[in-house]
Amino acid sequence: PKLVYDFAEGNKDMKELLGGKGANLAEMTNLDLPVPPGFTISTEACKVFLATGSVPPELADEIDHHVDSLQQKLGKKLGQADDPLLVSVRSGAAASMPGMMETVLNVGLNDDSVNGLAHQSGNPRFAWDAYRRLIQMFGKTVLDMDGDVFEDAIEAAKKAKGTNNDLDLDADDLKALVETFKAAVQEHTGREFPQDPREQMDLAIEAVFGSWNAERAVLYRRQERIATDLGTAVNICSMVFGNLGMDSGTGVAFTRDPSSGQPGVYGDYLQNAQGEDVVAGIRNTVPLAELEQLDKTSYDDLMAIMAKLEGHYRDLCDIEFTVERGKLWMLQTRVGKRTAGAAFRIATSLIDEGMIDIDEALRRVKGAQLAQLMFPRFDSDAETDLVTKAIGASPGAASGKVVFTSAAAVEAADRGEKVILVRRETNPDDLHGMIAAQGILTSRGGKTSHAAVVARGMGKTCVCGAEELDVEVAAGKILVNGTTINAGDVISIDGTTGEVFLGEVPVVPSPVVQYFEGSLAPDAGDELVAAVHRLITHADEIRRLGVRTNADTADDASRARRFGAEGIGLCRTEHMFLGERREAVERLILADDAEEREAALAELEPLQRGDFLELLTAMDGLPVTIRLIDPPLHEFLPSMEELAVKVAIAEERGEDPGRNKTLLAAVERLHEQNPMLGLRGVRLGLVVPGLFAMQVRAIASAAAELRKQGKDPRPEIMIPLVGAVQELQLARDEVNAVLAEVDRSTEADGSRGVEWKTPIGTMIELPRAAVIADQIAEAADFFSFGTNDLTQTTWGFSRDDVEGAFFSRYLEKGIFAVSPFESIDREGVGALVRTGAERGRAAKPDLKLGICGEHGGDPDSIHFFHEVGLDYVSCSPFRIPVARLEAGRATL
Ligand code: PEP
Ligand code: MG
Repeated sequence: PKLVYDFAEGNKDMKELLGGKGANLAEMTNLDLPVPPGFTISTEACKVFLATGSVPPELADEIDHHVDSLQQKLGKKLGQADDPLLVSVRSGAAASMPGMMETVLNVGLNDDSVNGLAHQSGNPRFAWDAYRRLIQMFGKTVLDMDGDVFEDAIEAAKKAKGTNNDLDLDADDLKALVETFKAAVQEHTGREFPQDPREQMDLAIEAVFGSWNAERAVLYRRQERIATDLGTAVNICSMVFGNLGMDSGTGVAFTRDPSSGQPGVYGDYLQNAQGEDVVAGIRNTVPLAELEQLDKTSYDDLMAIMAKLEGHYRDLCDIEFTVERGKLWMLQTRVGKRTAGAAFRIATSLIDEGMIDIDEALRRVKGAQLAQLMFPRFDSDAETDLVTKAIGASPGAASGKVVFTSAAAVEAADRGEKVILVRRETNPDDLHGMIAAQGILTSRGGKTSHAAVVARGMGKTCVCGAEELDVEVAAGKILVNGTTINAGDVISIDGTTGEVFLGEVPVVPSPVVQYFEGSLAPDAGDELVAAVHRLITHADEIRRLGVRTNADTADDASRARRFGAEGIGLCRTEHMFLGERREAVERLILADDAEEREAALAELEPLQRGDFLELLTAMDGLPVTIRLIDPPLHEFLPSMEELAVKVAIAEERGEDPGRNKTLLAAVERLHEQNPMLGLRGVRLGLVVPGLFAMQVRAIASAAAELRKQGKDPRPEIMIPLVGAVQELQLARDEVNAVLAEVDRSTEADGSRGVEWKTPIGTMIELPRAAVIADQIAEAADFFSFGTNDLTQTTWGFSRDDVEGAFFSRYLEKGIFAVSPFESIDREGVGALVRTGAERGRAAKPDLKLGICGEHGGDPDSIHFFHEVGLDYVSCSPFRIPVARLEAGRATL
């Protein structure tokens, strides 16, 4: 296969093969823009290099061929002593990875040709400067030398000269530097700096290929979810020089402002410099607009080219250019990165400018960007005192006093104080504390740890896995990198970046949330809000997927409804059994006889009924899917260890351990090695008599009560963790019996429920359920895919443990690019969802299909659920706008 492409042979759509830079250089070449001639070595060659450690054998010939034609075109040769051809060797992957990989400039210079370049350019200083840059970049990139070796030598030379401006170093100084650099290379590698230009080029190409796996590149890809096996292309481009004098220079430009989206002239220019000088910031650049005074012709050319590029790409472009003695050259362009806010504004301005239609505008904004716009942010201008950086698990910016227990959080919140709950990790009992706190900081666990999942669900800021924190709950302090943080000290956490600061960092509120909340009108003059409104309205018009919310409280339900939720897809009932109700649950589980059990149930029922009254009221007229109790028993029971200690102490002292002893025996009896695979979900319902019935009675009687008030409650009852149709059938029979009983008892008061048939469905969250979905469908009015448990059981990954335990290694090794708990694993778990949907619908064509795992709020996963043909996704309230937007985008 062909491995090398002349710039004229490619186009902008060949990014995968030529990388972004190569594809766009090709596009510009074919647009007749002034691009220095060159060629691109494809990512295919890189893949071979990465797999085998050497480039494909046929590559050398192909490169020879392209070098020949380049030499012919330019009338000079690589290494030609009197007038050398010089080239740059630049990386360029399909997805832009700014600054992550390597570049070597001025390849082709050696001890002879540097004199030719000096003569040709009439500028010996320039020639020696170019040579020292080559050795410096080559040393760092290809030979793995420490960059400080070179920087220190330059500093020393400047110091000797009594200056701090690199332009004050003259030809002789630079010549001396070249000697110093060459000696350093000799010392480091045991051989001379390679004098053969072709050898320089080949080594540079391999170094660029190798830089694909540089640590920072790997890290960046993981962060940006870029696949690990794409490889980079290499661009060999004939050199043009911005450092030939004050009539030369180099710069970057944007066709509009990448941070606000406003049209205008944005960029920076640096006279008498090469590209890396701009980035390195060794001299101050001037605003691009000043180029007009410095060099009107180049400026006008650049403006014309920018207009042409925007028209051609129909989007914001960023550009790197060089002026060589008054002649403008284009070195790079691409559709430019932009802030989330600019993305929305640019997309809608381009509609108004007639460049794109609204579908295209919607394609250009992402749910992740919308999510970013919804969180209050720390003021980036504020001064901060960073103490550590960990995993940004749930975005937002929160400040408050440190508390170590949920009780302390609740107390402080009652006093009106803002607190950050700091824990090693959280468990379901911390929910109250989490609700009371501004944010949650944990020293253990990853993005799907309990703290993270719950925090995201609540839209609460969370930083987790801050392993540098030594959280000493008992002593009431945190030790971190030599600093002690005491309970009551104020800290600030950034749930996007994972940063933890001492003290309070000021925040700026998000107008986009005010818009979704209904407190800011779309036409109130905020351009960003107007743009968001316009695009999300379009998404709503074209989406096929419904969007529901996961909500367990009336507050969450109301917020979700304001955000556009079309019902509740999952109300988890577990938390309704915690807090002060826990004791009743404990008595229920440990009951010795029917009488005790019924007493406990009788105590719980009115409380449950109250919960459902609130929830159904908040979602009046919309479906509310209530899942009967699911979690493992141990979450409701006291700790076995603690009880054992109490009993032992009592016995040691000769006291009567009393109730603790019976409790301990019961807890021991119910103890499970793998509670997540144990007595939970439908199993619990079938084993603890009366539990499901109590919940259903609470639901049905709440609904009856509301109907009597003229409201329109629409509960749907959902059975969790079903693996066999018999389980569902048994549960269903029990549910139906209770529904009928409530109907009968409410008949008298006119709120009779028979005509309001309550749908009864099931979660599909075990592989077996997905496979036998046709059987299960017979007993279900709807399915809701529980992709959290389905991921856990399909991979055999404990959702509570893997993140901390080994996921980071798995991500590093490229086993997956993103955690399967975060974004649906299409091939495995996704295939089960597809199977479940197909088989379920085959048995029952009008079966309603939803998804309520965490994936329901994840953009990529939403596109998948659209493709599979589900009816709705359900996600946490704060993800609702994102889900609406992505469900719309999925149809494009
Ligand atoms: C699931 O398993 O995907 C689900 C939604 O249920 P839970 O997270 O409560 O187990
Ligand atoms: Mg589940």
